[in-house]
Parts: sequence; structure tokens; C-alpha cells
Amino acid sequence: MSDCLFCRIGKRELPAKIVFEDALSLAFDDITPQAPHHVLVIPRAHFATLDDVPASEAPLLGHLVTIAARIARERGLAADGYRLVANCRAGAGQSVFHVHLHLLGGRSFHWPPG
Ligand code: 5GP
Ligand code: ZN
Repeated sequence: MSDCLFCRIGKRELPAKIVFEDALSLAFDDITPQAPHHVLVIPRAHFATLDDVPASEAPLLGHLVTIAARIARERGLAADGYRLVANCRAGAGQSVFHVHLHLLGGRSFHWPPG
């Protein structure tokens, strides 16, 4: 998608603080961090929402979770705990319509999230 913000970051057409990348995925710092560590993990392939990802792409979603967990571990967040969030559609707070996981860590979190 040529007009998608996260596709453009993936193609390096727009700047981002990239912290990890491989053939399938990319992770970069959120521009408006909501925690001391706030990383977005995205697939290179464009899916607008989680609801648009077909079941055949389950391994890709698993890959994104694994990448997020690895980044959390590498940053020393795993012992105290961290949060992974996927907002699906506007009612849940999604504002960029390219599937992404939020990795949030470095502070405590409340439940329910509100
Ligand atoms: P959503 O609200 O869709 O779940 O999350 C989108 C996230 O993307 C937000 O946390 C927002 O701060 C972040 N974001 C929006 N525009 C940019 C940008 O241009 N660069 C980066 N790095 N993050 C962005
Ligand atoms: Zn996209």
C-alpha cells in the first residue's frame, strides 16, 4: 500500500527508529511513547486490521509475538513484565491501519486497560 504510513516506514521512505528487522517483520519505536519502552512490531505485508489477517497467516502473527517477546527479554523487561497490545479497528483505539503489536514496558500497568 503506497499510501500506508507503516508500509512506507517498512520501505524506508519515512524515518523511524528501527530496533529490529527481518524478511517478514520490522520493529521500531513509537513516535508517542506511552511507556519508557514502547515498540511497534509490524509485518512487512500490509493487512489493515487484525480482522483482515487470514488464518493461513497465523505463523506470521506468531512470528510478531515472538519478536516482541525477544525484544522485551533483550531489554530486561521480561522479569517485571510487559504488555502486548493489538488494537483492532477504531472502537478499540486503532489509528494506523496496518497491523501492529504494541510492546509496552518499563512501568506498571493496570487491568482492565480502560
Ligand atoms: P494504534 O492507535 O493504531 O493502535 O497505534 C498506532 C501507533 O502508531 C500510535 O501509538 C502512534 O503513536 C504511532 N505512530 C503514529 N504515527 C507514527 C509515525 O509516523 N512513526 C512512529 N514511529 N509511530 C507512529
Ligand atoms: Zn501498510
